[in-house]
Amino acid sequence: MDKKFIFVTGGVLSGLGKGIAAAAIGALLEAKGLRVTLQKLDPYINIDPGTLSPFEHGEVYVTDDGCETDLDLGHYERFTHVKTCIDNNYTTGRIYHNVISKERKGDYLGNTVQVVPHITDEIKDAIKSAIKDEYDVVIVEIGGTVGDIESLPFLEAIRRFRYDVGRGNVLYVHLTLVPYIKAAGELKSKPTQHSVKELREIGIQPDILLCRSEIPLSKDVKRKIAMHCNLDEDAVIAAVDVSTVYEVPIWFRSEGLDKQIEKMLNLNLPEADLQIWEDVVRKIKLPKQDTTIAIVGKYIGLKDAYKSLTEALIHGGIANDARVNIVWVDSEDLEKKSPDILLSEVDGILVPGGFGIRGIEGKITAARYAREKRIPYLGICLGMQIAVIEFSRNVCGLNANSEEFDPEIEHKVIYLMERWYNHRTGKIEERAKDSHKGGTMRLGAYPCVLSERSRAFEAYQTQLISERHRHRYEFNNHYRQMLESKGLVVTGVSPDGELVEIVEIKEHPWFLGCQFHPEFKSKPIQPHPLFKAFIEASIKEKRSLFR
Ligand code: GLN
Repeated sequence: MDKKFIFVTGGVLSGLGKGIAAAAIGALLEAKGLRVTLQKLDPYINIDPGTLSPFEHGEVYVTDDGCETDLDLGHYERFTHVKTCIDNNYTTGRIYHNVISKERKGDYLGNTVQVVPHITDEIKDAIKSAIKDEYDVVIVEIGGTVGDIESLPFLEAIRRFRYDVGRGNVLYVHLTLVPYIKAAGELKSKPTQHSVKELREIGIQPDILLCRSEIPLSKDVKRKIAMHCNLDEDAVIAAVDVSTVYEVPIWFRSEGLDKQIEKMLNLNLPEADLQIWEDVVRKIKLPKQDTTIAIVGKYIGLKDAYKSLTEALIHGGIANDARVNIVWVDSEDLEKKSPDILLSEVDGILVPGGFGIRGIEGKITAARYAREKRIPYLGICLGMQIAVIEFSRNVCGLNANSEEFDPEIEHKVIYLMERWYNHRTGKIEERAKDSHKGGTMRLGAYPCVLSERSRAFEAYQTQLISERHRHRYEFNNHYRQMLESKGLVVTGVSPDGELVEIVEIKEHPWFLGCQFHPEFKSKPIQPHPLFKAFIEASIKEKRSLFR
């Protein structure tokens, strides 16, 4: 079978859920037996989102091979079996960087280097890099909204792409908005018509429209949109608001999206088997119990900054047949108000990853409260470092901090390791002190060995695990013995025993900090063991009054 390509563009306005739509198409096609990969093309100039503020752009998602990528790749991994890597996310910056590097090397000798064809060819090569033997279909999501200046080269590239790989192998799916005007009780199709007109002006006739709308589209509305946009009525798919994103593949099937894709790409496939998604949705909608978790963070104004984390909590809930209520606690508030006020009604406390000194003392207060009040605690990356600082200060009596927050502190229990053995490369490497990320950050998947008698081992049920990292600082082994003798034990280390990856408090219902980010590997159909165990412990220790 020829490789098939589905391009997903967005119109009218941003934030309609293009990433979820692309991922859900992936899930739907996998349910019909196809092997699917997904790619995101982002129109901004940063080479990758690693340097972007999560407050503006949402979470930075980390892949196994250590790339800092767009959060949509998280949706791709949660909805499908794809394992994303460097080939799954390109930005305008990276495309230009490649072209300019080639120009400097003399690859275009004699030619004027231009957007068309040089940039557009580079984009087409980027798309081709996602084609691997093991996949039948490549779903490519174009970031931004049609009509933006920035996305033009991408749209031109995907327009040409169809000529390269054959008409029957390419599908253009366009996501738009059909607003519901309450006062008139009417759905409005005009924004969709305009958006499609704009796409057609640059030479792309969409094959399928996904119409985001508050309520289902009537036959009349579909007919009207189809007529104005040059489509069959069956190619106008309603994408109605649903209560959980994991319902989207089911909804798409009920709208006949899979049949349309099959027909247009000349495929002959079995019926989609969506049983796993039906089970997930049932567990989310009709849980037997509930629990309340506080996320103590800095960027709580923008929920997308913690996308994988909140999803992983939902997955932990699925594994326990429980709804997880999230209480967002601004760590700076904990510096002014008592935890007895802010954290008294929660069943579990989670301190997520983060950078910079703001709100650090509030996070330390949260970790202390969890330890002393015996509330289940999950510390992720910075959250693990916080637990170590708190324990060093309040149990061991050390004047302790992380080198990140106080380079002059007496006891740097978390510090910058200058030389380390990198298990991924098999080499001794330097980790420079400057704050620019290149080379200094431990990024991507690293192996970790678990101690048999530990909460971690209980959760994973295996000794060797692999998890993704994104941090600069490490646990300082100089303090390991002292901390362990007082009750904060190390239960996960790198294979050479040098890097501390997990710490736990033994005399506590459930208190665990990990140097890695387990949330990046959690899926609704495969909840992450640590989130499953954390939620289980929180249910057991329930104090909240939410019902
Ligand atoms: N700021 C800490 C470090 O660089 C933790 C990073 C994180 O939580 N991702 O080590």
